Amino acid sequence: MSCKSDADLSRLSIGLSNHELCTRCGTCTGACPTNAISVGEDRYPELDAVKCIDCGLCKTACPGDVVDFTALAHHTYGERKAPQDFDGNVIARYVAYARDERIRQGGAGGGVVTALLWDQLKHGDVEGCLGARMNPSRPWEGEYFIARTYEELLASQGSKYTIIPLNAVLAEIRELDGPFGYAALPCQIHGYRNLERVDEVLAPKIYAVVGLFCGGALEPSLVTDLVESKGISPSELRDFQFRGGDWPGKMRAILKSGEVRDLHYSNYKDGAYNYFTALYMPKRCQTCIDGSAYYSDVSVGDAWTRDKAGNYAYPRHSRLLVRTDKGHDIVKRAAERGTLAIKDVTTDPNYQTHKLHTKRKGIVAPIRVERYKAAKRPAPEYDVPIPEVTTREKVVERLVTGMLDLAKIRRVRVTILRLVTSKLAIPLIRFRQFVKKRKYRGR
Ligand SMILES: Cc1cc2nc3c(=O)[nH]c(=O)nc-3n(C[C@H](O)[C@H](O)[C@H](O)COP(=O)(O)OP(=O)(O)OC[C@H]3O[C@@H](n4cnc5c(N)ncnc54)[C@H](O)[C@@H]3O)c2cc1C
Repeated sequence: MSCKSDADLSRLSIGLSNHELCTRCGTCTGACPTNAISVGEDRYPELDAVKCIDCGLCKTACPGDVVDFTALAHHTYGERKAPQDFDGNVIARYVAYARDERIRQGGAGGGVVTALLWDQLKHGDVEGCLGARMNPSRPWEGEYFIARTYEELLASQGSKYTIIPLNAVLAEIRELDGPFGYAALPCQIHGYRNLERVDEVLAPKIYAVVGLFCGGALEPSLVTDLVESKGISPSELRDFQFRGGDWPGKMRAILKSGEVRDLHYSNYKDGAYNYFTALYMPKRCQTCIDGSAYYSDVSVGDAWTRDKAGNYAYPRHSRLLVRTDKGHDIVKRAAERGTLAIKDVTTDPNYQTHKLHTKRKGIVAPIRVERYKAAKRPAPEYDVPIPEVTTREKVVERLVTGMLDLAKIRRVRVTILRLVTSKLAIPLIRFRQFVKKRKYRGR
């Protein structure tokens, strides 16, 4: 338990004093040399003040209240410029998929992240890979772990759209030989890179940084709310999948009885994630402006691009943004060794994707940050200017934030959750799909 004064707390990571600014990335837990910071309730850090030696490492590494984009850019790819657009610093663009069918089938997209990690593990480049999975004995909770075998890597596959303080595992690998494969969300990478700059023991332990695109994680309570709203007790769960079944997947409960229950209609993107982000997105994710993991060696996201008929052009693929020479090496090597199938889309003028994501991260979140700052509400410090915005965009931000604030009331949140996952939502989903398809048709 924390029993430090306010002055002492100001020298520690922000999650110990202000939950609204905490990304729950686990970096402070992973950074602490005396194991004084553990992962506590709802995945927020907790301090054992007796063990704390006031070294300040958790504060230095914390990506919660300050993100110095210029310093991170300089450290990652030698540029003194913060990223200028959604994609950021990119040297090559690919769409890709895992050649191993089990890896491709189990992936959120094309299984590319796991294929990259498996390629490193299989060829002895790394000793293990840091991963996220649903806890085998409490499948409604996500957890971090070290995967050392093919089967363990498969268990880490698929996106878990929930808070998992992955970087807490960095404390463990400091004691091991390494190096380790690492795939992480933007905030986790901000924390890791901050630490890598100052921690000489840790730096050589990570082989390469694979970034995940991120539109925002969801509060851990989503899983229990969702299954309970369908009359399933969490204790009946053997597994919970955020994107189970055929691409692009659905949220599904796998019961101990062997029954597999779909938890909503349509696919996860049209019928679940996009609605749930308006109900369960944590405060700190609402003010995050990095949607493509700017400081990775290579970033991976969904390949949502559409063809001229409005259909997905690359189903069961992932989109890759290569940012560094090291990132290019691991991608090209995985392709040469037959682990990954890649198609270069660097100069393809039709390769467009992530419009909504770009708006959320590039316009809505920066407006929110500025507005919170003006109202003296907690907001992270970024060293990038706010873009020019229209009145319409300001209104949209107010409406979205109003919805998110309203959804903090559990009864409201659960009522809307029931509605958007019921049959009543089918017309809404169909309408959304129709509008989106039409937008792309005949581009
Ligand atoms: C919270 C979250 C939000 C995302 N939002 C978007 C988005 O808006 N747009 C988009 O294009 N892509 C988003 N992604 C990324 C996307 O869902 C896929 O993870 C990505 O395309 C890689 O797919 P894959 O098949 O190549 O990876 P896979 O082979 O399925 O591997 C997935 C990897 O992700 C790791 N992982 C899963 N969940 C977590 C977690 N919570 N924290 C840390 N690591 C995790 C696993 O350990 C594994 O290494 C998000 C991912 C997450 C976890």
